[in-house]
Amino acid sequence: MKKFLVFIFPFLIALGCSSDDTPLEQPDQSKAPNEQLEDTDSATSDTDSDSDSSQDNSSDNDTDQSNGPDFDSSTNTVLLTQTAYYYPNGVETEVEYTERVAVVPLTGSSHKVYEANGVFYIIQLDENNNVVYTEGDRNSFFMTSHNEMPRLVTSNIQSDVTLNMQVYYSNAPNAQTPEAPAEIYEFIWDYGDQGKIEGKEFIGAKFDGRDKYGTPWDVNPYKFGDTFRAQLAIINIPDKNITTAPLTELVYKEVGVVNYKGVKWRYEADLYEGEADFLSHIKPNFDRSLEDLSNTDGANNLNTISVFGGRTYTCGAEANCIGNEGYIYCFTKTPDLYMFTHEIGHTWSLREDSPVNWVEWEELWATYFVSEYAKKNSKEYFADAFYLYFSGQKDLEDFPNLYQMPDEVRAKLDTYFK
Ligand SMILES: [Zn+2]
Repeated sequence: MKKFLVFIFPFLIALGCSSDDTPLEQPDQSKAPNEQLEDTDSATSDTDSDSDSSQDNSSDNDTDQSNGPDFDSSTNTVLLTQTAYYYPNGVETEVEYTERVAVVPLTGSSHKVYEANGVFYIIQLDENNNVVYTEGDRNSFFMTSHNEMPRLVTSNIQSDVTLNMQVYYSNAPNAQTPEAPAEIYEFIWDYGDQGKIEGKEFIGAKFDGRDKYGTPWDVNPYKFGDTFRAQLAIINIPDKNITTAPLTELVYKEVGVVNYKGVKWRYEADLYEGEADFLSHIKPNFDRSLEDLSNTDGANNLNTISVFGGRTYTCGAEANCIGNEGYIYCFTKTPDLYMFTHEIGHTWSLREDSPVNWVEWEELWATYFVSEYAKKNSKEYFADAFYLYFSGQKDLEDFPNLYQMPDEVRAKLDTYFK
């Protein structure tokens, strides 16, 4: 009995988006970062894949498995390495296993499709006919699971660079949306040299009918060998005649890099006269935020802050942690003090070794008012309380009806910082 991994996302993400205006609805199945506000949330399935008849091929192809390419064109099979998860006594145990599976070619494409238990996965092969997997933690051969055979659709996506892209589309109900089909787009395009195409990096996306730009997270780009793969999922929109992807633009811009106060800064180079000009835009408020946090470990786990402000995004800023490393994205030319301290509140509280007990913060969130925005969820509640505690004294004094620091919340923050 095998427990078959359907989708794993071992990314610790918390997005402190300062707006609720997400670009498109995302069904659970997509596991979009901006829906995945909290902890590592690996969706696994208990589906029993024992009955997969293609496994029977494995015994016939022993030599082939060790010597030849993963794809065998004579049998239309692919040797696939997958990760299985077992839960003996409730403890997650990871086992990697290899099996040869039957695949179907896609018309007009070098990609293959693997079907298991009614779910369809696109398999990408490199020039040697070996399977391309994700890099880093996400050891997987697929980006998203389709509920029907995916098909190629036209890509009319504008960009500042030349994109070599293929777009797949499927439109079928899944377990989460039994009554409304989940439309899923899968985008596969050249990663470029270190993520750069013509020296420019992917920093935003525009969707059909939306005036604001989505952040890079909104299309979930992940690196698979020499390509990006990304997905976009939409709950069915009635009467929508799907011929092209609803993504209209991928923004690629030159990104400058500078180190300042132990943090790696990435900025949209077009918007500033140069490094010194960029620093003049971030220094006053960042320095003030660090000063407010001085003698605490509040800013200790900052790794990278990206500042992209060349267009209006659906989101003001967001933050995530990978392990103990904090990453902040500011979607504005000149981030203000609130943005810095609030986002640092996220990176401080969401890191792996954070002392924050979210059950306690859920209780505080449900009981005491801090700000209107903090009502969104306990993560935003924490970040706003963190801001008011360190940088927002004047806001508390000037706007006592808009911002509050209840004694219980202050006392909890004191336990971390006093
Ligand atoms: Zn936030």
